[in-house]
Amino acid sequence: MLATTLSRDTQIQLVESDAIGIVGVGEATIPPIRQFNRFIGLDEREFMKATQATFKLGIEFHNWGAIGDRYIHQFGYVGREIDAIVKLHHWWMVGRLAGGAADYPAWEDMFLAKSAARAGRFALPDPSPQSPLSRYTYAYHFDAHLYGKYLRTIAEARGVKRLEGRISSVRKGSGEDVAEDRIAAVVLDDGRELEADLFIDCSGFRSLLLGGALDEPFDDWSHWLPADRALAVPSARETSSIAPFTKATAHNVGWQWRIPLQHRTGNGHVFASAFGTEGDAEQRLLAALDTPALDTPRLLKFQAGRRRNAWVGNVIGIGLAAGFLEPLESTSIHLVQSALESLIEHFPSRRMDPLMRDRFNLLAAEEWERVRDFIIAHYKVTGRSDSDFWNHVRTMDIPASLAETLEYWEESGFLSVHKGHLFQLGSWSALLLGQGLYPRGVHALANRADPVQIAGQIRAIAAEVDQAAQSLPLHADFISRYCPAPAAD
Ligand SMILES: Cc1cc2nc3c(=O)[nH]c(=O)nc-3n(C[C@H](O)[C@H](O)[C@H](O)COP(=O)(O)OP(=O)(O)OC[C@H]3O[C@@H](n4cnc5c(N)ncnc54)[C@H](O)[C@@H]3O)c2cc1C
Repeated sequence: MLATTLSRDTQIQLVESDAIGIVGVGEATIPPIRQFNRFIGLDEREFMKATQATFKLGIEFHNWGAIGDRYIHQFGYVGREIDAIVKLHHWWMVGRLAGGAADYPAWEDMFLAKSAARAGRFALPDPSPQSPLSRYTYAYHFDAHLYGKYLRTIAEARGVKRLEGRISSVRKGSGEDVAEDRIAAVVLDDGRELEADLFIDCSGFRSLLLGGALDEPFDDWSHWLPADRALAVPSARETSSIAPFTKATAHNVGWQWRIPLQHRTGNGHVFASAFGTEGDAEQRLLAALDTPALDTPRLLKFQAGRRRNAWVGNVIGIGLAAGFLEPLESTSIHLVQSALESLIEHFPSRRMDPLMRDRFNLLAAEEWERVRDFIIAHYKVTGRSDSDFWNHVRTMDIPASLAETLEYWEESGFLSVHKGHLFQLGSWSALLLGQGLYPRGVHALANRADPVQIAGQIRAIAAEVDQAAQSLPLHADFISRYCPAPAAD
């Protein structure tokens, strides 16, 4: 219905420059992408075949809380709750007090997505809520260039006009036909002018309209997120299996990603140039690859932060034009898609309704800040003191909103984040317990339970979860049946 209305009243023209190209290294996603893909009517199998996609059950973090540690931020829910009122992580904390730490299950062992990920297994979740195999969700890894191409074909088939060209300048309103605070037209290299009522600035880091023509201030978050460089390199595909998770390994000045696709593996090293050189980063990246490199590493530069308002006048910045958060939790494509959903919800008339604009901006600011806090927490909650970089992030000041979240957690294991936060209890508990931030207290109703009896129940949940995970097929076998991509050129 939405598409019909749009095609009747609204024409969309996309100006894009093949000479400039796209960033194209966003290869890992989070579960809400499935709703977005459904919303725009993508067929999962077709889309996965077309983009060399694999399934993602979470992110395995190595060396974050301490060198040698690992945990999975899994996508899903605990195997089962012990109690309808008190959340399982409180009981898990109580059970720890029983002693026997060596064979006491880790918090991640409560989640089927983690057990399946480590076992290299995957199938679509069981739709029946009674089934233990319904207790997880998933996202994708894919080739971002192919995803862009796939979406472009679909958009063009639905009436979007694509124009190859390079925007060289912008004509602002003169006050006669178009208000002075608005953009009247973009001007291409060859002199053509394109007028429109609404301009969506998706020009990437250049932020041509929002940051450039309108000079919207950039709120710099690099004091909390000092990483400002990435080296990206593809390597050969894994041969024996395909891991259904992203791997994020912390190094001494940043971290390295590994993203398994059907035809190759995506790798990259995100690092802070104030703490280390590009040469060292390149050596570290190449030395840590699991499979042979297929190219030389490509350098990308960025700065954490966002334009204060994404919607100004008749311009709405989306994607990198609106801001950047490093890809530690694979959130950038999500922020593009959630901005599009919000734009549709708040779609303006030609008057560019200020109420719609203000609400759009408020919701965007909240969403970005919440995601920002979650990413900062990975750096702040660490025991690492082996480099200047880790000493800096471990001891830095953090946003008041994150400080409050950590204070509640440490005090009582209570998660105080807003219900609309992209990351909820499963994610925060994975991070905080995975990186060793154990609450000092637990929920008052769990306080007086017998730790030995609770530890028995926790062990039972871990065993059930593991048994269910082992019943799933191997991820590589599932892909070869469900969505095999054509062999790469
Ligand atoms: C190192 C790194 C790793 C990342 N990893 C992930 C990840 O794992 N998961 C994730 O979700 N996201 C990730 N991202 C982010 C992801 O790559 C971006 O969110 C995504 O590519 C969207 O980018 P974009 O469309 O805003 O910008 P771009 O990809 O830069 O596209 C900009 C477009 O604007 C056009 N353009 C620019 N200037 C002009 C001009 N003058 N005239 C005409 N056209 C112009 C370009 O041709 C291009 O088509 C990562 C980003 C980086 C830097």
